[in-house]
Amino acid sequence: MPLTLDGGREEPVAGLDANEVFQKYLGRLKEQIPTNQRMTLIHCPTFNFDSLNIVVARNRSYYVYPPTGLQCLKAALSDLDIEVDILDLNYLLLKKICETEDADYLDLTPLLDEYFDSNDVSVVGVSAGVTVSNVFDIERHPFVQTLNYLAAKGRYLVLTGGVIANNECHSLLRKDLTHFVFDGEAELKLRFFLGQWFGFEGHARTPGIYFKYENQILETREDRDVVDFKWDVITTYDNIPVEGYNEVGCLSPFSRMIGRESKYGTVQLVRGCRAHCTFCGVTPFMGAKVRHYSIDTVLSEIEFLVEERGVSHIEWLDDDLLVDREIAVQLFKKMIDRKFGVTWAANNGLIASSLDEELVRLMVESGCVGFRIGIESGNDQILRRIKKPASTTTLRKASKTLAKFPELFVVGCYIIGFQGERYEQILDTFKFSLEMNLSWSGFAVCQELQDSNVEGEFESDLENENPEGRKKITDFVPSKESTERAINPGKEQYDSIFDLPGDAIPSPEQLNEMWFAFNLFANYIYNKNLRRGGAPGKFIRWVQVIQLGYPCNAVISMFLYLAYLLDGQTANASDQLERTRNNLKESEYWVKRFKQYGLDRVMESSPEDSSGAQKILQEFRDRCDSMMECV
Ligand code: SF4
Repeated sequence: MPLTLDGGREEPVAGLDANEVFQKYLGRLKEQIPTNQRMTLIHCPTFNFDSLNIVVARNRSYYVYPPTGLQCLKAALSDLDIEVDILDLNYLLLKKICETEDADYLDLTPLLDEYFDSNDVSVVGVSAGVTVSNVFDIERHPFVQTLNYLAAKGRYLVLTGGVIANNECHSLLRKDLTHFVFDGEAELKLRFFLGQWFGFEGHARTPGIYFKYENQILETREDRDVVDFKWDVITTYDNIPVEGYNEVGCLSPFSRMIGRESKYGTVQLVRGCRAHCTFCGVTPFMGAKVRHYSIDTVLSEIEFLVEERGVSHIEWLDDDLLVDREIAVQLFKKMIDRKFGVTWAANNGLIASSLDEELVRLMVESGCVGFRIGIESGNDQILRRIKKPASTTTLRKASKTLAKFPELFVVGCYIIGFQGERYEQILDTFKFSLEMNLSWSGFAVCQELQDSNVEGEFESDLENENPEGRKKITDFVPSKESTERAINPGKEQYDSIFDLPGDAIPSPEQLNEMWFAFNLFANYIYNKNLRRGGAPGKFIRWVQVIQLGYPCNAVISMFLYLAYLLDGQTANASDQLERTRNNLKESEYWVKRFKQYGLDRVMESSPEDSSGAQKILQEFRDRCDSMMECV
């Protein structure tokens, strides 16, 4: 059988096939690495080490998810004669930041030493989590740091998996940071691999285990494995302190909106997604086949979390929770019958076309407080191009349905700056976000990443073969990219983004400016809950949470001040006005931003009651209307 090399080129090597080379390589490693029947799975920190903000961490604003993916792997290995432990570095590091003073939190060595000095294991699996990409561009990236630590010890068999490991597969192997990379869902691959390593019989061979042999990147060959998950995840909670995760972080703004003291957990009904959006890694990673966990299994896990671990808020990890309407209906009905008393949210997002009134009603009755929906674009041409399972027509229909459920907090998610996207198409997205009239609009900028798998000695060949192969697409929120959480800081003056020619393709800097303007306009100035007849309390509950992540943001404090006035909470309004003054005093950046959009008017003549707040908000809207007149 031919070997697969970089870029899919196939060449025979010394008459051996990839699977034979795999066995040979394992044999070689067994001679070098001491073996015992103990394995540790590491969940790396998922926040960006380049922009760590200690205040934000201590506000418990970073995401701390239970390591569900690793728990699934542990469950899948439960019948093998191996002791498997999970080391949740994300949780431990945030706990350390919250509880101790330390000069250098971002050095993971003390945490790793503490663990490995007292745990004698021979196999270590490392997952990078999903939120931090560009691993080799970020100083002390936690994933790379962990792998360097293990490589320096030289006594562990190191396995890697997860989205980031898959993206960086070839680079990780070439740099000798891992022995094997597991592609996509890893349960069956790991069972096969450990069977080979420890000598357990009867585990079918799988494809998708990458390794480096004599300077070539190879992959085991077999028909694609599809994981039909049948194992019991509940048993894996033994060493997961799930009841303490809310003490060091949150799951999403939804979980924080419920209250910091609310213990939370995660569950999953569906693996995979029916769609194939071009910018999204879910389907390539999970495979095209959508699978359901049994409803009873999911209900048992919720019951366990609620009754045994005190959890009162649940987050669905699904990428397509509503793919099978009948199953979703049954699930929500049973949740209602079982009276779990939990709230739940779907921060990963729901597909809008699946929302109908009966289903949404059941969602609300079963505890739903809110969710995101992936809208991405307000331009049908772009929606078709990115293969989004939606059109502006179906999205408008969803908006009408959702308007009947004002108790829900629904965030519409948009991406601007797709490759070749014209300014006029981006403006369609902004205008559509206003038309959708949801509780919040989450904008992100599309970013093309350098593919670090394509480098070094193979670079020129691959560029010639497949120039598109260098492109990886991701989306990011510009305000999270720096510790100060500012957009294009340091500029003398900010240009208007509303006078570009319609056919212009905006630069990355212009896209960041658009992100700033769209976020300000859609979420603050035009927010439906700050208009007459709106629900300022709903705005306050959400924006209070956002403020924990952006404590120095003067726009947030200023609009919270106005919202509190609208809601009749004058003491809280005064606090936020004072906070705005301080934020402006501390930051030339925010002074310039206030001037740019005429927000400084509030500081010159600050309203003292609801009607004053309403008047100034209307002035803002009039001013923005005139700024946008030309578009
Ligand atoms: S619908 Fe969502 S999860 Fe599914 S492929 Fe598209 S972006 Fe990804």
